[in-house]
Amino acid sequence: MNAPAETRKFEAEVAQVLHLVTHSLYSHKEIFLRELISNASDACDKLRFESIANPELSAGDSELHIDVSWDPEARTITVHDNGVGMNRDEVVANIGTIASSGTRRFLEAMSGQQKADARLIGQFGVGFYSAFVVADKVTVQSRRADAPAGEGVKWESDGKGEYSLEQIELDQRGTSVILHLKADEDEFLKRWELRSLITRYSDHVAFPIRMPVEKDDKPTDEWETVNAASALWTKPKTEISEEDYQSFYKSLGHDFNDALAWTHNRVEGSQSFTTLLYLPSQPPFDLMMGGRDERKGLKLYIKRVFVMDAAEEMLPNYLRFVRGVVDADDLPLNVSRELLQKNRQLDRIKAACVKRVLDLIEKLARDEPEKFATFYKAFGNTLKEGISEDANNRERIAKLLRFASTGTQAHPGEGDAQNVSFDDYIGRMPVGQDTIWYITADSYAAAAGSPQLEAFKAKGTEVLLMFDRIDEWMLGSLSEYDGKKLQNVAKGELPMDEADKKKQEEATKEAEPLLKKLKDLLGDRVGDVRVSARLTDSPSCLALSDFEMAPHLARLLREAGQDMPESRPTLEINPAHALVKRVEAETDDAKAKDLATLLLEQAEISAGAQLPDPAAFVQRMNRVLLG
Ligand code: ADP
Ligand code: MG
Repeated sequence: MNAPAETRKFEAEVAQVLHLVTHSLYSHKEIFLRELISNASDACDKLRFESIANPELSAGDSELHIDVSWDPEARTITVHDNGVGMNRDEVVANIGTIASSGTRRFLEAMSGQQKADARLIGQFGVGFYSAFVVADKVTVQSRRADAPAGEGVKWESDGKGEYSLEQIELDQRGTSVILHLKADEDEFLKRWELRSLITRYSDHVAFPIRMPVEKDDKPTDEWETVNAASALWTKPKTEISEEDYQSFYKSLGHDFNDALAWTHNRVEGSQSFTTLLYLPSQPPFDLMMGGRDERKGLKLYIKRVFVMDAAEEMLPNYLRFVRGVVDADDLPLNVSRELLQKNRQLDRIKAACVKRVLDLIEKLARDEPEKFATFYKAFGNTLKEGISEDANNRERIAKLLRFASTGTQAHPGEGDAQNVSFDDYIGRMPVGQDTIWYITADSYAAAAGSPQLEAFKAKGTEVLLMFDRIDEWMLGSLSEYDGKKLQNVAKGELPMDEADKKKQEEATKEAEPLLKKLKDLLGDRVGDVRVSARLTDSPSCLALSDFEMAPHLARLLREAGQDMPESRPTLEINPAHALVKRVEAETDDAKAKDLATLLLEQAEISAGAQLPDPAAFVQRMNRVLLG
C-alpha cells in the first residue's frame, strides 16, 4: 500500500497560529524543547499503555526513552522517541492540519497582543507549533508501533501555509522531530544549553532523556541519560525538595507559574493509592468555561503506568482548578473511561482527593493568609459552585468562603476586600441576633450603597455584601450556616421588636391615603406599595418576596437570552422623605404621576433592574427638573 507524496495547505486557523508563533512569541523561546519532550513522553506513555493489551507492540525494544541530539554542521536539533508513533492519518490530524479546540482558544487569548510569552503555547494543546518559534523548517518522521517498516511518514513544513507528506521507510517505531534552526538561534546548538534546559524544564519526565556525549565540541555515538527519570510522587516526601515539587508541577503542563501549594499523600490498606495534588497560583485562561470543555490537569496512573487524563472522573467540577497525579495500585490497567465513571473503588479515591484538597485550602486559610487570599482571588468563585454541587461538604466549603461586609473598617481603596467569613460574622453578632444578613448586587458599589442597608446601618447590624454573579445562585443552596439562617436584606419582612412593630403599624395607618394614591398612580407597574422599615435616608426601595429573584440577576439572565417572567415589584417608601411628601401634596395628576413613577424607577435602578423604557424615564426626569 503506497500513499502518494503530496503537498497540503494548513487549515486557516492553524496557519494563523503558526503566523503568531513565528512572529509574536518573543520571550522564553526555549520552551519548544519542553513541549517536544512532553509530546515524546506522552507518546511513550501511550505505547506503554497499549502494550499491556498488546505486548508485541514494544517487543524487542521495550526500554522507552527520549533522545535529544544536535548537529552543529546541519544546524539541526532532533527530538526522538521510541513511543507509539503516528500513522499518516494521525500525522495529518494531530500536527498541523486540523484545528483543535485549543487552536481557537489560543487565537482568542492572543488577539490584540503584539508580543507574547512563548510559555503560553503549552496551555492550549498546541505545543507542537512552538517548534516554529526557533525553526524555519520542521521535519517529522514517524512510524506507528503497529505499522510495518515501509509505512513510515515524513511530514515537512516551513510553517508558512503548506506542508508536504510522504511515505518513507523507517526501521524503528516512534517519532523524530527535526528542527532546522533559524539563522539567529545558534545558542540552542550547544550541548550545555540543551542540557540545562532539560534539567530546568524536563527533569521529572518519567522516561530517560538521553543526549550524546560530547567530544572535541562534537556529539559522539555514546548516549548518556541526563534527567532524574523517576516518578516523583513515588518517592518519600522527605526526599523531595520544594524545587522538585515545583518543577514536577511545571512538567505536568498547563501552567508555567509556580504552584501555590500542594498535598502529597499515600494511602495504604485494602486499597492503596498515592495522590499529589496542586493548587495553581493563577487561573488558566479557560477556567470559567466550566465543565463544558475538556478538562485536563489530573493524570491517572495505575501502578506508575499513565492511563489517562482523568480530571473529570476524579474531581468534582468545582475543584477543576486542581492539577496533579493520582496513582492507584488496585485498579485494573485496562480500565476504560466508561468503567471509571462507574467504578466503586474509584469513589473512595475521589472522596480522598476532595478531602485532601479541602484540607489543604483550610490549612492555607488557617496558617497562610496571604496564600489563601491569592487562592481565593483566583478560585473563590469556582469553589462557591461546590455549595450546590457537593452537599456532603457544604459546611466545609461554606466555612472557606469570604465576603465583603459592612462590618469591617475598610482601608481606603480596599472597600471591596472580600475577607469576612461566616464565622467572623457570627463572632461579631450581638446576643439575640440569629440571622446572617446579606445583600446581593452586581457590583461592590451597588451593594454597599444600596438603600436596603439603611435601617441596618442605623441599628449597627452587619451585612455581608455579595456581588459576584454566582453568589445569588449559590445562596439558593445555602439557607443556613452553623444553625443561623441566611437572609437577604431585600427579602420579606424585617424582624421587629414590639416597639418597632407598633411604630410601623402607625406609620402604615397614617400613610394609607398616600399608599392608595401611589398604587393608583403606578397602576400595574407595581404589585404593592407599602411603608418601609428598611429606609432611613432614601425615599424608596424595592422589596422582594422570599422566592423572587434579585432584579440584577433577572436582568443578567434576560441579557443572556433567557425568558424571564415579568414580575411586578413591591415598592417600599419612606413617608418621612421630602420627595414622598411632595407626591403626597401634589394635586396636579400628571405631575404626581411623574413623581410617583420616579420613586419607583430610582428604586429599580439601585436594585440593578432594567428600566422598561429608559427614554421615557429621562423625559420624565427632565420634566420634573424643569418644574
Ligand atoms: P498536545 O500535546 O497538548 O496534544 P501538541 O500540539 O503538543 O498538543 O501535539 C499535538 C498532537 O500531536 C499530540 O496530541 C499527539 O497526538 C501528536 N504528537 C505530537 N508529538 C508526538 C510524538 N512525538 N509522538 C506521537 N504523537 C505526537
Ligand atoms: Mg504537547
